Amino acid sequence: MGNSTEAIVQESLDALMEDQSFLPELKDLDRKKAFSSLHSILSTPDHVNKSFLRISLENGEVERIPAFRVQHNKMLGPYKGGIRFHQTVSEEEVSNFAALMTLKNALHEVPFGGGKGGVIINPREYSAKELNLICKKYVQNFNENLGPDKDIPAPDLGTGEREMDWMMGEYKNIHPGLPYRGSFTGKSVINGGSLGRRKATGKGVYLSFRYMLNDFVKKQEKWLSERDNRFARTALEHVDKPLSIAVQGFGNVGSVAALEAYQCTYLKNKVVAVSDHNVTLYNSEGLDIPNLVEYASNHEGDLPTNEEQLGKAEVKAIIRNRDDLLTMDTDVLILAALESQIHQENVKDVKARIIVEGANAPITREADQYLSDNGVIIIPDILANAGGAIVSYLEWLQGRDTQFLSEEQVYEQMYDKMKHTYDTIFPEFYGDPFPLRQNCYIHAVMKISTIIYRQGKLF
Ligand code: NAD
Repeated sequence: MGNSTEAIVQESLDALMEDQSFLPELKDLDRKKAFSSLHSILSTPDHVNKSFLRISLENGEVERIPAFRVQHNKMLGPYKGGIRFHQTVSEEEVSNFAALMTLKNALHEVPFGGGKGGVIINPREYSAKELNLICKKYVQNFNENLGPDKDIPAPDLGTGEREMDWMMGEYKNIHPGLPYRGSFTGKSVINGGSLGRRKATGKGVYLSFRYMLNDFVKKQEKWLSERDNRFARTALEHVDKPLSIAVQGFGNVGSVAALEAYQCTYLKNKVVAVSDHNVTLYNSEGLDIPNLVEYASNHEGDLPTNEEQLGKAEVKAIIRNRDDLLTMDTDVLILAALESQIHQENVKDVKARIIVEGANAPITREADQYLSDNGVIIIPDILANAGGAIVSYLEWLQGRDTQFLSEEQVYEQMYDKMKHTYDTIFPEFYGDPFPLRQNCYIHAVMKISTIIYRQGKLF
């Protein structure tokens, strides 16, 4: 497990050990030993699988590409987590994300464990034929570990429906006659994918913000105002106010979250800035998000980068440097691009008072501490971006039953599950000294620890 997740898991275990109402039958030395064992179990992955994919490139050369599948913990069900194609992938990063998946599934009561995959490539530098070969080799090389009841990958950065379709096809070839639909999620609908999967994470990300402010804080204003808590004060300052929102990343997660914010008519929100890997676009009156979505969908996902392109998109905006968005004077910042975007060097310039983590781990531990100390509300990744994981579970179920849900039914079930988690987390968050992230971890660790203990694994 990467350092930051490990440290927070350790803090959660420390808090739970002190709380004698949690597993009260464990006392004194037995309690100490049990919590030390839990730390060992949760801080190390079950398996770190590494392989080199042998690929014949179209130019005739052969390349060996490093690839990983880390299986962190399966106490709650088969391992589950995306496969990332990116040049910055590393064993440590994949292991950290696998642990986050264990915690995310536990928090939202999805009956899966945590896993994650990665391939060290820049997918933009490979042809479709080469990527197809990379996907097939990935399945061949990790075949023994994968399967609908063992480990179920999904898309992540650099992969999507196309790659999942290819991988499921290869899995089916290797296992003729066996059930295969549940082997991968995030597939195209024609291949057994779920309606609504692509938009699920972005919709859930916006829901987490809206639900916190409008459904929780607004209804609990009196209760919150009686508490001398830095986060409660920040929340109350933002209720029923027109809020400006900036969204970093304009892919599956960011563009959908921005569109949800734009379309949410009963909150007075304006999306004033969006960014992608090239550029930030800013308009203090609010950006025309539908036109930007339309433009990006016709330009390989990219936002307009000059006046001519803005004209074609019919969007009024000022063009700024890519990273300017992070420190703009907005109320809310939705981070939906990459990890470690807010760090020691830029954290003091961040002005947003509410930050929503659409991406996994977009804030470093040091920056997180600084922001929390200053009363900035951070809706953490495992709480905010679980929509995709939840709909992946629905996809897996639909693949088993061969009964398919409508898009509305998918969102309804996803919202119900997320709201159930929010209803558990939000009230406690303001009542005690922990930031929201720590509370989410405590809940997730509590759930897994109880199961580990009840299944007699601490002897
Ligand atoms: P994506 O590839 O569809 O989009 C990524 C976006 O980020 C693109 O617009 C890209 O241009 C932009 N980007 C890249 N580098 C940037 C930078 N330095 N500054 C600003 N923008 C930058 O990916 P996605 O599916 O939208 O995922 C975004 C993040 O959310 C990833 O970290 C992913 O792991 C995480 N996540 C995704 C899902 C999901 O269901 N898609 C679920 C949970 C978490």
